[in-house]
Amino acid sequence: MFGVAVPGKVYVFRLPYGEDLLAAVKTAAETVKAEAGVFWIIGAVQKGEISFYNQSEKKYVRKSFDQPMEILSCIGNVSKLKGETLIHAHIALGDETGKAYGGHLEKGTIIFAAELFLLKLEGIQLTREYDDTTGLNLFSL
Ligand code: ZN
Repeated sequence: MFGVAVPGKVYVFRLPYGEDLLAAVKTAAETVKAEAGVFWIIGAVQKGEISFYNQSEKKYVRKSFDQPMEILSCIGNVSKLKGETLIHAHIALGDETGKAYGGHLEKGTIIFAAELFLLKLEGIQLTREYDDTTGLNLFSL
């Protein structure tokens, strides 16, 4: 087994009520100049917007939840695509019955309350490039 130690720093944020979750994570990452990182969020949203990647059609299929939901778990990473900060996150949302739905986090998920722990990785570059096989922008490692 082989591993690499990467130095980093953890930043903690309370994300603002009423803001878009994906945009708020991007702002947080840019605020601490994180060009590479991983993050975890728990909290609640006023409404949710997720998607599922249809692998044969190479298209994201969206699903909307126009209701308050818990953020059971949201994890993701920070990287760069064509020089721009890119936030890639997946989220599990729970409704009032405890039922969970999950997928790729999309724009349009509105924060009720959200606690973000962001681990900024130092000394590594995480960039993405388009991959023909999957139709996705994957890490160029
Ligand atoms: Zn995804």
